[in-house]
Amino acid sequence: MPSGYVQLSGKPYLCLMRTEQQQQQPTATTTLPVMEAFYTIQGEGAHAGKAAYFIRLGGCDVGCHWCDVKESWDANAHPPFTIDQLVTEALTYPGRMAVITGGEPLMHDLTVLTDALQLAGFQTNIETSGVYIVTGSWDWICFSPKKFKQPNGDIYAKADELKVIIYNQSDFAFAESFVVNLRPDCRLLLQPEWSKSDEMLPRIVDYVKANPRWQISLQTHKFMQIP
Ligand code: SF4
Repeated sequence: MPSGYVQLSGKPYLCLMRTEQQQQQPTATTTLPVMEAFYTIQGEGAHAGKAAYFIRLGGCDVGCHWCDVKESWDANAHPPFTIDQLVTEALTYPGRMAVITGGEPLMHDLTVLTDALQLAGFQTNIETSGVYIVTGSWDWICFSPKKFKQPNGDIYAKADELKVIIYNQSDFAFAESFVVNLRPDCRLLLQPEWSKSDEMLPRIVDYVKANPRWQISLQTHKFMQIP
């Protein structure tokens, strides 16, 4: 295991121990609250199957009842890391795709982080509910709207991928409601909510066969049992 990492649940994670220096220097743009950071395979969406360095930021106020990372919601529960620390750790792995997720990562100004990642040679991808204005320089924006909070209109022209979680039947109409506002080249994906997959996946299969502009996204990292 690389230095600076700890073993949690049998998987290597960036060590998130807060140092004395970090406690003294949290600022809005040069540090970010990090719940976890790790090198893995992107499991879902248009870039599924590719090696990626994930940075999961703390903080989310969207409130999805089926959220599987509720521990991310409180930004103050996660230690601040400097941009330099995050980029330096990411560079210890050979992959050059960085995925910024959360939480809702756009609760933070991500300009400094994405500038630094791109300068270091990373493709910058984000997964966002679109509730907040987009900051940062992005190579790929995955817009995953939620029923619990309206998206910011800023996201529609910027989204490269629309990924809608299908939890019940009404989510198909919810997904369609966004299409008119998106760019024509925006990828459209439907993904079953993990706990409802047995019920919803057959309906998604039928829907995509009847509406072939849509594609199916599966959480393949869960099948592979990787983070
Ligand atoms: S937007 Fe994402 S992190 Fe926030 S509550 Fe919903 S699923 Fe959880």
